[in-house]
Amino acid sequence: GHRSAEPAREIASVCPYCGVGCQVGFRVRNGRIEEVVGRDGPANRGRLCVKGRFGFDFLVHPDRLTRPLIRIAGAAKDPADCLDPSRIRGKFREASWEEAMERAAAGLRAIRDGAGPNALAGFGSAKGSNEEAYLFQKLVRTGFGTNNVDHCTRLCHAASVAALLEGIGSGAVTAPFTAVRDADLIFVIGARPTENHPVAATFIKDAAARGATLVTADPRGSSLDRFATEVLRFTPGEDVALLNAMLHVILAEDLHDAAFLAARVDGIGALRTHLAAYAPEAMAERCGISAEQIRRVARLYARSPAALTLWGMGISQSIHGTDNARALIALALACGHVGRPGTGLHPLRGQNNVQGASDAGLIPMMLPDYHHTDDDDARAAMEALWGAALDPRPGLTVVEILQAAERREIRGMYIMGENPAMSDPDLAHARAALARLDHLVVQDLFLTETAVLADVVLPASAWPEKDGTVTNTNRQVQMGRTAVAPPGQARQDLAIIVDMARRLGLDWRYDHPREVFAEMAQAMPSHANITWDRLERENSVTYPCPAPDAPGEDIVFHDRFPTPDGRALLVPAGLSHPEETPDAAFPFVLTTGRELEHWHTGTMTRRAGVLDALEPSATVSLAPEELWRLGVEAGARLRVTTRRGSLECAARADPEVPEGVVFLPFAFREAAANLLTDPRLDPHGKIPGYKLCAARVEVA
Ligand code: SF4
Repeated sequence: GHRSAEPAREIASVCPYCGVGCQVGFRVRNGRIEEVVGRDGPANRGRLCVKGRFGFDFLVHPDRLTRPLIRIAGAAKDPADCLDPSRIRGKFREASWEEAMERAAAGLRAIRDGAGPNALAGFGSAKGSNEEAYLFQKLVRTGFGTNNVDHCTRLCHAASVAALLEGIGSGAVTAPFTAVRDADLIFVIGARPTENHPVAATFIKDAAARGATLVTADPRGSSLDRFATEVLRFTPGEDVALLNAMLHVILAEDLHDAAFLAARVDGIGALRTHLAAYAPEAMAERCGISAEQIRRVARLYARSPAALTLWGMGISQSIHGTDNARALIALALACGHVGRPGTGLHPLRGQNNVQGASDAGLIPMMLPDYHHTDDDDARAAMEALWGAALDPRPGLTVVEILQAAERREIRGMYIMGENPAMSDPDLAHARAALARLDHLVVQDLFLTETAVLADVVLPASAWPEKDGTVTNTNRQVQMGRTAVAPPGQARQDLAIIVDMARRLGLDWRYDHPREVFAEMAQAMPSHANITWDRLERENSVTYPCPAPDAPGEDIVFHDRFPTPDGRALLVPAGLSHPEETPDAAFPFVLTTGRELEHWHTGTMTRRAGVLDALEPSATVSLAPEELWRLGVEAGARLRVTTRRGSLECAARADPEVPEGVVFLPFAFREAAANLLTDPRLDPHGKIPGYKLCAARVEVA
């Protein structure tokens, strides 16, 4: 017989994909999500993109982990297993939670007590809740005893945050992207919001339709260009040359906001001297934009009553990413485009909770609320709250941790919801480093490329299977609610972290995420007046929030910056250029990124039926002229090679890709783009240059 269908219930939650933070309704019947609808959240007003609408059947994919797994004694850890998961058959066995947790914790304890706390490290996740991020960093800091805790923010906006903290004293956006409705000019640089922040892109298009001037700047074209007044297709890697040339024009022609600078900003003298060498005529050839267009765009930007700047990975994922962001911040400050309606600095955050995870302290050099680990007062306050001694020395970052593992300085890791065996640069080395660990615990939904190298694999719960809060790119803290139960014995991540903490000797008692949220609010004055109960009622509250019944502040820093003296700082950005540049052996620039349908390393979206059907395989995109030169048509197999590695996949003709450039998405295991990328890091943000390395392309 068949079951009679129960009526559908609608559970109010948030989309777990990108940092836009669209509010969704999960329509549930018979314990399954049948349909997802857009709700009237502040970031989406009922809108959703294809991922939020169709990206959820991975929840019931047969690959879901439903029982803990333990590596069988003697089964070798082979990086080649990352390429082909069928190779791990016979290497793992199922175990009870008790056995798996005890094995997981015993391995970590042995390294902590033998080699020492700094031989351990943890990667938390920007895909989990704020409560999970907070507890994970607390576990590493107090249970492991090290600051070696990081997450994918390092690979995303670390350079932007470093420059923002230095320049204006805060790493978060100064205005939500919805402030474009009040902007006269919108400057989008190094971002492809139509693919990576699709619902944010709809607000930008609405603003352009209403009459705002849109300026786009990126080496690759994008579908947003159709709405733009000015399109700057500059040479890859030459962000500083372009932005400094614009600044040069603004200062030389007295277009800057002298009153704003005098009242609120330091450093104009040094910047003016520095920019003398950056006349547009001197930079035009280098950045590939005519001096005339540089002057025109600089004047447009400076003369606009209100300009808002949005940027993405094109600015930050560079070994001079911090300098790129410094130049962009200086541009906005010089023109007074911060702190008023329609103005602001907005690094578009990638993951759904990368803002919240960073706020909660899931970063190696900072405690919750961005207090440096070596700030004695801040550390003492956290030691009092947590009842534990903390190490003042900053920990290692994501890429540094795996490099230390390769040198055997890091011996054990706990990785929750991240997949460095796909997301780190120079994967051959990253995978070898993971395989060299004495002990690796991975907590995830699937047997990821990272999990195949683990000693213990813990089956976790997906976002629609739990309660928790997340913080989007707009600083909106939003409530997510349980729609369905996790499969089999898969367990709540928060419960796994607490269980692990107890086995590492911590006396933790948290029965519900609301208790974690309450403690987190104590540790983070930035979140004052935002409570779990309030989020239950209102679904979304923006921080900072001045009173328990007041709305949060959308646009911040209208009269002072959160620096000791309230003033911002202009930091000159130079043309340092140690980047790998194309040469005779490797004549192309390789750039990597995402596509609309696939999320990051593909763990979820490649198991979502509609999304995978739309974009089922890896392709390498080139300008049609380049395919013609290679003598092939779209669909031909090409081999892409860099100094790190080589891979093959099908060619795609893409007129948005400039000649001399190839683009690879990083979501595909069978052609993992990061086998090719350069592991060198920006010295300040410690972020790798995923957007630029030298490559060779041949017919396979
Ligand atoms: Fe989800 Fe981002 Fe798409 Fe909104 S724009 S539905 S948050 S992926």
